Amino acid sequence: MDGFVVVDPRFAAMVLPNAPLELLGEGFRWLEGPVWFADHQVLLFSDVPNDRIMRWTEEGVSTFRAPAQFSNGQTRDRQGRLITCSHHGRCVMRTEIDGRIMVLADRFEGRRLNSPNDVVVKSDGSIWFTDPPFGINTDYEGGKQAAELPARVYRLDGDGRLTIAADDFDGPNGLCFSPDESRLYVTETGRQFAAEPRRCIRVFELGGDGQSLGPGRDFHRVEPGFADGIRCDEEGHIWSSAGDGVHCIGPDGALVGKILVPSTVSNIAFGGRHFSRLFICGGQRLYAIYTNVRGVAWP
Ligand code: MG
Repeated sequence: MDGFVVVDPRFAAMVLPNAPLELLGEGFRWLEGPVWFADHQVLLFSDVPNDRIMRWTEEGVSTFRAPAQFSNGQTRDRQGRLITCSHHGRCVMRTEIDGRIMVLADRFEGRRLNSPNDVVVKSDGSIWFTDPPFGINTDYEGGKQAAELPARVYRLDGDGRLTIAADDFDGPNGLCFSPDESRLYVTETGRQFAAEPRRCIRVFELGGDGQSLGPGRDFHRVEPGFADGIRCDEEGHIWSSAGDGVHCIGPDGALVGKILVPSTVSNIAFGGRHFSRLFICGGQRLYAIYTNVRGVAWP
């Protein structure tokens, strides 16, 4: 099984030893925010320091939007619209079907958000996002500015109301729901420029209202590197970015296996015809690999 690390024997049936890691594009600065458009068979992704959103199809890579307000994490809402975190705009924004860009959230109680990093939409339409200061710590990723709020996880409801979902974080980053939405996983990377990253994935149980979170607990420690973007497959495994590739973690928190990638991975997204192709943002390169699992697919 070249290119894989099998920790739990179950992992051998979750990947395809005859499916190579493919290089889809290179020459970027720092990739993030992969989001799959099944209706167009298109992947959009952020090239953060180059301030552009890129577009990949089987025909190749092109620019989707530039400048792009230093976009980072992206997803789609239940109507299929693109939802984008913006460092420079310090906001979460939505691209309408007609191409207009709407700011959905840029303040909490009158203070500016820091630099929304990653975002996920729940089946009830609520938008959950993390707001660490990573994008305003440097000019490289969005522009040096002062933070006005603690780093938090927020929930944005359909009526525009913004609520704190969790606030005991040291650098919240990527996030995803379990397939049944009973759990929210959030990665915690700690302070930028700290000698040691936090390397942690935390898990929160959702309350009976489907809107509030119980207390978080440490779920899994990612090593080497740290966990940034994460995605769940249909069986409830968590696929996490890591320093040596993509790690697959069971719902019990145990490492199941790894897909090795020759560059640090920042974020991933399932896509392709059956949501079984894993697109991988690896620093300056975009990779993909076919797997034998299917990601949680929507819309
Ligand atoms: Mg991130």
